[in-house]
Amino acid sequence: MITKNGPKPKLGDYRKILEAKAEEVRRSMSAQKAAQVVARLDIPSDEGDLSQQHHEEWIFLNRNSIDMKLLREIADAIHRMDREHYGICLECEEPISAKRLDAVPWARYCVSCQERIATRIAEGESVDEYQEADR
Ligand SMILES: [Zn+2]
Repeated sequence: MITKNGPKPKLGDYRKILEAKAEEVRRSMSAQKAAQVVARLDIPSDEGDLSQQHHEEWIFLNRNSIDMKLLREIADAIHRMDREHYGICLECEEPISAKRLDAVPWARYCVSCQERIATRIAEGESVDEYQEADR
């Protein structure tokens, strides 16, 4: 276990975890894509249930955009590693706890900043503002 003042998280380990996760997401995205194409071929064009098709499309797009977002987060995290800024909260610049990085290796913020931001988002503030902020 890594204690509060214990050894720093091993970057190489997180990089491996992040790269493996990115690979997993990419694979699942192409699997979904393949499944979607097959499903479409199965629907007869003249009697296909359009609303059902739209529903599936929505789920597909929605899942994909979550995956895309995750991929972007992972790529950003790897970027931060290259700039030796990994594991540092983008808001308060305090180190993010190893416990949090173990749970969410692509975390941008420490727990308290994340909670504060989540509250602001819940109150209707734009999420994109925060995504733009660290470019
Ligand atoms: Zn913070």
